[in-house]
Amino acid sequence: MKATIATIPGDGIGPEVMGPATEALDAIGDRYGHTFNYVELLAGGCAIDATGEPLPGETLEAVRQCDALLLGAVGGPKWETLPGHLRPERALLGLRAGLGVFANLRPAALLPQLRSACPLKDEVLIASNHEGKPSFDLLIVRELTGGIYFGDRGRSADGSSAWDTETYSRAEIERVLRTGFEAALLRRKKLCVVDKANVLESSRLWREAAQELAKEYPAIETGYLYVDNAAMQLVRAPGQFDVIVTSNLFGDILSDEASVLTGSIGMLASASLGSPAGGGRRAAMYEPIHGSAPDIAGQDLANPLASVLSAAMLLRYSFALEREAAALEAAVNSVLDQGFRTRDIAGLGSGGPERVVGTRAMADAVIKAVEDGAQ
Ligand code: NAD
Repeated sequence: MKATIATIPGDGIGPEVMGPATEALDAIGDRYGHTFNYVELLAGGCAIDATGEPLPGETLEAVRQCDALLLGAVGGPKWETLPGHLRPERALLGLRAGLGVFANLRPAALLPQLRSACPLKDEVLIASNHEGKPSFDLLIVRELTGGIYFGDRGRSADGSSAWDTETYSRAEIERVLRTGFEAALLRRKKLCVVDKANVLESSRLWREAAQELAKEYPAIETGYLYVDNAAMQLVRAPGQFDVIVTSNLFGDILSDEASVLTGSIGMLASASLGSPAGGGRRAAMYEPIHGSAPDIAGQDLANPLASVLSAAMLLRYSFALEREAAALEAAVNSVLDQGFRTRDIAGLGSGGPERVVGTRAMADAVIKAVEDGAQ
């Protein structure tokens, strides 16, 4: 296949981790006969410097013409004193709104090579893991553009009380639930809907919609948890989860909780998806969850694996190239097996020999593993 991918390297370590992601995609393309073209665009601090605004109109327009967007990171101390609407991070909100991406997918997996990054005990992990191993592998699907973060809010005239409102339409709920069901079909076929349906009316609508939709997905084992229980289960038995789907507020909190269980921020990828358009292509943006890490920028210290794993998500969710996505993930797994570690993930394994390397050498190792046919 041929595809055109918009890239926004951004600021700080953004450009350093973007290179490895596109090179890894090209290596996958060479191995499986695909061609990826890239359109590099400006957003964030570097766009403010060049054009005076964090998200130039041309950037959004160009992204819309492409098949998917891969983003590095934006922001940095240089732009921190600018007024809110001119801050680099506004570019992220502008891209999400402009592309209409309503579902945020964040995988959280504990890799055996980084076992000690997770604060949980072996017995906790093993007890709930489907293969009886001290690991977990889950995906949180969070609604991104609705709910209490976007609802009516205010203060009483005398300032003595305040309110924020959780509002969801059935259509908003159904489209993110559907994303959750579809994601579960690509994985272990288990979906957990997290809500607070014992108290909140909006949650009752979530649950009703989920129960209806579950009938369309008989292959999926659908379960339900109240959010307080889900937060507890994540640290008591994370291996029980495959896909979790939930609202904006609950997803925000649970995805941060899950990320802490995996260790380094330099390993965590994300996807933000919109609705499939007429031709089947859906608006989609892929990015590591970390920021621009100004403290290590330009020093060949950044871990490029979150960015590479974001590219694997792009293959899976934008192009349905499951075999290729799995091959890229296998390449990452293989370099970790070989002992390659950037500084942020050094010393987290079982004590086997490690090679602490920089961004460039880690990227080269991934590309070699793709070329060598890692499965
Ligand atoms: P950060 O994620 O940039 O960094 C937090 C810590 O993690 C730092 O010590 C950093 O060195 C380390 N780190 C992050 N990514 C790493 C990687 N790939 N490899 C190794 N170490 C890594 O968060 P921050 O310091 O709070 O924010 C820095 C800037 O990034 C701010 O301007 C913030 O607004 C912006 N930011 C952008 C995004 C985004 O673009 N999506 C997300 C979060 C923060």
